[in-house]
Amino acid sequence: MKIEVARNAGFCFGVKRAVQLAFETARTSGGPVHTLGPIIHNPQVVAELERHGVRAIADARHIRRGTVIIRSHGVHPDVIESLRRRGLTVVDATCPFVTKAQRAAAALRGEGRQVVIVGEPRHPEVVALKGYAGRDSVIFNHQPVRIKNRIGVLSQTTVSEDDFVRALLAFGKQASDIHIFNTICNATQIRQRQTMELAQRSDLMVVVGGRDSANTARLAELCKRVGQPTRSVETEDELRTAWFRGVRKVGVTAGASTPAATVQRVVRRIRELTTGKTKAEGRRRRGQ
Ligand code: SF4
Repeated sequence: MKIEVARNAGFCFGVKRAVQLAFETARTSGGPVHTLGPIIHNPQVVAELERHGVRAIADARHIRRGTVIIRSHGVHPDVIESLRRRGLTVVDATCPFVTKAQRAAAALRGEGRQVVIVGEPRHPEVVALKGYAGRDSVIFNHQPVRIKNRIGVLSQTTVSEDDFVRALLAFGKQASDIHIFNTICNATQIRQRQTMELAQRSDLMVVVGGRDSANTARLAELCKRVGQPTRSVETEDELRTAWFRGVRKVGVTAGASTPAATVQRVVRRIRELTTGKTKAEGRRRRGQ
């Protein structure tokens, strides 16, 4: 059985940068270090950071001293302001592409437009974007929304091109003065395109990533849209031999928050399962 891994599977630029910053801060900071929410949607990386003394705290009000790392999704500007006011050190690991979207939201608001954000309302990046977009901003998530005649449109960075275009077509019927910022991140587009191409030449797709990772879930959704059987796993331990019966080629892809080492372990385990080797045999062969 052939195994092909998608070319851009795993950490994207922004996530890699945020994780590196977190480990670096753990090494260099004197006091306690926290991340505001898990640094990425990957429990294994979060656990590893915890072993290095970095704790994920959901609510900023519970952090009393030390350093707070802002994750790649960014946060509402009021949160950063309040952390600084309380004397905490802020390490901003917001992805530069997300910062670009935040600036676009502030610029559109500055033009006196109602800002429309295409994305998932509860996603932390969108919650943060809304802070820059102003009180009268609205979020478009497939369902119709009431908008003004003069609007500014941008999107959550991980929205697909198709969804963004569909949203723009809908707004075109309601508003006549529209300023558009394309804030979709290239890393997402490339990963999605390569995953769909790989799904087309595979009999089965295995999507690797945290269960809470929206972009990982999106990759699985796209594989299914191509019409391929798709399995989602967080780690190699969830793989089952039965999935690979009769499969000649398996494609492996991974969300932007999945470490390369996890992808490699999944590929190795698929090989072991499909060649009838046990995990222990595999480890012995690799001299571990
Ligand atoms: S997907 Fe794009 S915007 Fe999001 S963290 Fe990665 S590089 Fe940044």
